[in-house]
Amino acid sequence: MRPFSLVQPPTLSDLVSFLARGNGQIALLAGGTDLYSLLKDEIVKPEVMVDLSPLKELAGLKQEKDFLRIGALTTINDLASSPIIQKNFPGLKQAAQSIGSPQLRNVGTIGGNLCQRPRCWYFRDPLFLCRKKGGARCFAVQGRNKYHAIFGGGICNIVHPSDLAPALISLEARVKIVSSGGEKEMALSDFFSPPSVSLRQENKLQPGEVLTEIIVPNPSPRLKSTYLKFTERGSWDFAVVSVAATAEIQGRSLLKPHFVLGGVAPIPWRLTNFEKMIEGQNIQEKMVAAAALEALKESRPMSENAYKIDLAAVLLARAAMSLISR
Ligand SMILES: Cc1cc2nc3c(=O)[nH]c(=O)nc-3n(C[C@H](O)[C@H](O)[C@H](O)COP(=O)(O)OP(=O)(O)OC[C@H]3O[C@@H](n4cnc5c(N)ncnc54)[C@H](O)[C@@H]3O)c2cc1C
Ligand code: SF4
Repeated sequence: MRPFSLVQPPTLSDLVSFLARGNGQIALLAGGTDLYSLLKDEIVKPEVMVDLSPLKELAGLKQEKDFLRIGALTTINDLASSPIIQKNFPGLKQAAQSIGSPQLRNVGTIGGNLCQRPRCWYFRDPLFLCRKKGGARCFAVQGRNKYHAIFGGGICNIVHPSDLAPALISLEARVKIVSSGGEKEMALSDFFSPPSVSLRQENKLQPGEVLTEIIVPNPSPRLKSTYLKFTERGSWDFAVVSVAATAEIQGRSLLKPHFVLGGVAPIPWRLTNFEKMIEGQNIQEKMVAAAALEALKESRPMSENAYKIDLAAVLLARAAMSLISR
């Protein structure tokens, strides 16, 4: 690991003033569950590490009339065990509970989860200088690509590893971003950047900016949500494919459905053509399974990962049936 200096700003305003001064290559440190391994492998080589943990103002949940505000430093465990999340957002609770191990959930934060870097083994291996790290080629194209993208790939074929991102997008969450110039908000679905837009970075954060809050609209009484995740191992693991689903339920119909896939694309992948096919229909398992397979025809699997299409179809159908039965 390369040496770096450590800075611990006591307040958010100290943090953004420090970031505004430049100060060389900076890395923001939250729980460190992802960042430390990137440092050890010298995939990221900051000159300055800015520890966010003193910023207690960025931790915790705040219930307001129309929104739930979740501070970026809220741990995944605090999220999963919050009575508000357990009562109003079962899909988000399932996603949080599916992450890593208890130790990891005690330390890892929601902000770090959304900003974590890809798990592509060529990206994580210091010996491979692939396109994402400034090299000339994507090694996954002719190499091992079992866990890579079936949607939205091409120049880089990572999948976004976050479990919370699909769940939060299905709930139409927004994010607050703060810099010395002020604050701004955007839909979480717009926060992520595909490789065709920004190859080296997976989100739209600019230098000097920090993610401070996730804002989730309070659900209508008829809104149901679920999160299903397929992993290769029974113990902690990243999603091979996951589905976050929300909809308002009317009899056996799904209204305003949101189906967002994880583990299949460089960004959380909303399957709007599937939503259109099933919205307002009398939901039956065979019908949704057929619609899912039809919608997944737009995927572009690589040499080793066409199996993800079948997995996604099964999870989409199960998620739709699960919403109806809740
Ligand atoms: C063994 C293991 C298992 C895991 N399993 C899962 C899993 O099943 N599902 C899953 O989704 N993830 C998983 N992860 C990934 C991830 O480490 C955690 O989900 C965790 O939430 C990351 O949060 P952190 O606070 O530790 O982030 P850190 O490691 O501190 O930071 C991660 C990245 O986000 C940036 N960052 C952090 N906070 C902010 C902020 N507020 N503003 C801007 N940038 C920020 C950092 O600069 C860094 O680049 C796993 C990781 C490990 C090591
Ligand atoms: S998928 Fe992206 S990160 Fe992985 S080898 Fe290809 S360019 Fe690199």
